[in-house]
Amino acid sequence: MDVLINSRIQKTPGPTVTINCPACNAKSAPAESMHQVDQLELFYLLPIMKLRNTFVTCHECNKQLICSAPFDELDRLSVDDLSQHLVHHVSIIKKFLALASVLLCWAPFVGVLMGCISLAVNWRTTGWPKTLSYVGIGANVLLTAALLIFIALGG
Ligand SMILES: [Zn+2]
Repeated sequence: MDVLINSRIQKTPGPTVTINCPACNAKSAPAESMHQVDQLELFYLLPIMKLRNTFVTCHECNKQLICSAPFDELDRLSVDDLSQHLVHHVSIIKKFLALASVLLCWAPFVGVLMGCISLAVNWRTTGWPKTLSYVGIGANVLLTAALLIFIALGG
């Protein structure tokens, strides 16, 4: 995506579980679980952070849900317990932050800050808001670096 920060993703399939789906409201629906480790690296070398997420995909509606329960306890939880740990919606605020991080990517420092906030709040999601956060940060880091070099040479 960009050369500054890349994300190494490792996926491990887990057991089939039974959930009450918050997306399509199906009761006792079968669902596929998956463990995903995202490792963020700077310049493809320096590990910045490592995040572990558990995703559950509903067989009824095929929506991918984020599960906050520990991966190795999935098959021990009851349907009700497990369902309390499932999250479906990406909030408007998160989408707004992702957009703002790209719209502000021309603004030195502020854009990076927005991008980091956006990436943090969008971390447990999949899809475009997270991607936009990366783009915003990447573009801003490049622009800020260019600006600093410009100032250094001029001063
Ligand atoms: Zn569903």
